[in-house]
Amino acid sequence: MTALNDILGSGGVLTDAAEIEPYLTDHRHLYHGRALTVALPRSVDQISRLLAYCNDNRIGVVPHGGNTGYCGGATPDESGQQIVLSLKRLNRIRNVDPLNYSLIVEAGCILADVQRAADEADRLFPLSLGSEGTCQIGGNLSTNAGGTSVLRYGMMRELVLGLEVVLADGRVLSTLGALRKDNTGYDIKSLFLGAEGTLGVITAATLKLFSKVRTAATAFVAVQSVQAAVELLARLREASGDRVSSFELIPRIGIELTTRHIPGVRDPLKQPYEWHVLCEVTSSRAADRLDDVLTESLATAFEANLVLDAVVAQSDREREALWKIRETIPEAQRIDGASLKHDISLPVTSLAPFVTKAGDWIRDNVPDGQLVAYGHVGDGNLHFNLNQVAGTSRDVFLAREGSIKRAIHDIVRDFGGSFSAEHGIGRLKVGELERYASPVELDLMRAVKRTFDPNGILNPGKVLRS
Ligand SMILES: Cc1cc2nc3c(=O)[nH]c(=O)nc-3n(C[C@H](O)[C@H](O)[C@H](O)COP(=O)(O)OP(=O)(O)OC[C@H]3O[C@@H](n4cnc5c(N)ncnc54)[C@H](O)[C@@H]3O)c2cc1C
Repeated sequence: MTALNDILGSGGVLTDAAEIEPYLTDHRHLYHGRALTVALPRSVDQISRLLAYCNDNRIGVVPHGGNTGYCGGATPDESGQQIVLSLKRLNRIRNVDPLNYSLIVEAGCILADVQRAADEADRLFPLSLGSEGTCQIGGNLSTNAGGTSVLRYGMMRELVLGLEVVLADGRVLSTLGALRKDNTGYDIKSLFLGAEGTLGVITAATLKLFSKVRTAATAFVAVQSVQAAVELLARLREASGDRVSSFELIPRIGIELTTRHIPGVRDPLKQPYEWHVLCEVTSSRAADRLDDVLTESLATAFEANLVLDAVVAQSDREREALWKIRETIPEAQRIDGASLKHDISLPVTSLAPFVTKAGDWIRDNVPDGQLVAYGHVGDGNLHFNLNQVAGTSRDVFLAREGSIKRAIHDIVRDFGGSFSAEHGIGRLKVGELERYASPVELDLMRAVKRTFDPNGILNPGKVLRS
């Protein structure tokens, strides 16, 4: 502990059990670990010296961002021998360059603060998640976060120009130069994106900015079916010149859960429907008449029997109210009871047949579970979750998690999909990765891990078994 105090200085090492406690449990309360201590470095140099020390002494280090991850990646194991490394004090915005459409931020910056800094420079940083008031850029990079604007701007990986990373032995790799073109050998930085802290500790990033959104049209639409949603998306993309930035599927149960548990949420449509989409078209040109584009597309889709009903937001307040339904589904699910989550992706053309097949399987095999399938349908990404039916046993429901997951993920594989679209592997899905990744992929992943972290000190047991 003396060595750590020397490296991190006063206030840099937490020793009080009550102060350490919040760092020991993940957001979903799936895991509760123990830790030697929590380190709160203020500088890259402190992180460099801390990792060099831990590497020499074979001490596991668990990088910790906003702790909103869904797979237990930021939680230490039960050994009590690992150090939690919180990035929260490394939270400076180092530079904003509106002409280069880029900014450099430290890993501990909260995502919403980065969005704000871009906005103040008359630019847009488009990553947007329900957790944006808490999650950190380092966590977003390390999970390759997705969210609600992927359709238009891509996942976190596509928003990165450069990274600064502290390696396991304390060396610092810096590729923070804000270049859009740089074909100089292997793209090493891309390996850290989505690596969940198992290959290095990200300390800063150069991120891409975009022109600010000057006008947006948002609609909440009842659709005939999941297939109708997919067809509506294709029509909207064409009619808007590919300016659809979000296209989110919301099932009836999503409306029921949010209106029941989240204050201020109400169903914007007059009668209940089975499937809805929340869609948004945006432009950086204030004069674009997006409301007209959206309304005309919806009208023709109504005639084609794809759309059953719709409401177009008339003000920012109405727009926010529509988004609140979508963004509070995870919270409403959590309040409602136990849930089993599957963060899957498929080619959009396979979404409807998949939902039918996997939905039938659930109906026939899980009488105490109710399907809550929602999410980023424009990216082929569904949160294909099950909530415990009211009045049933939580323990009995959760005890079947392994076999239910296996059945659903096997169906996903049969449709050519992925068992982890945007939430990563963490500790939760290590076994799934072993089952569904090819032997060649696994061999290469293990070789990369050995090269970057030969002593296995970086987030041990996450992504790959240690
Ligand atoms: C309400 C809600 C909505 C959400 N919506 C979405 C969504 O739409 N899309 C989506 O993709 N996710 C979503 N998430 C999940 C989560 O917010 C994201 O995965 C987010 O990117 C995690 O960031 P974090 O800072 O909380 O990371 P943490 O949970 O703290 O950590 C996640 C992983 O990254 C590692 N890590 C953290 N910081 C660093 C660093 N500096 N260097 C190296 N490794 C690091 C950790 O060790 C861990 O393995 C949602 C979560 C909630 C609670």
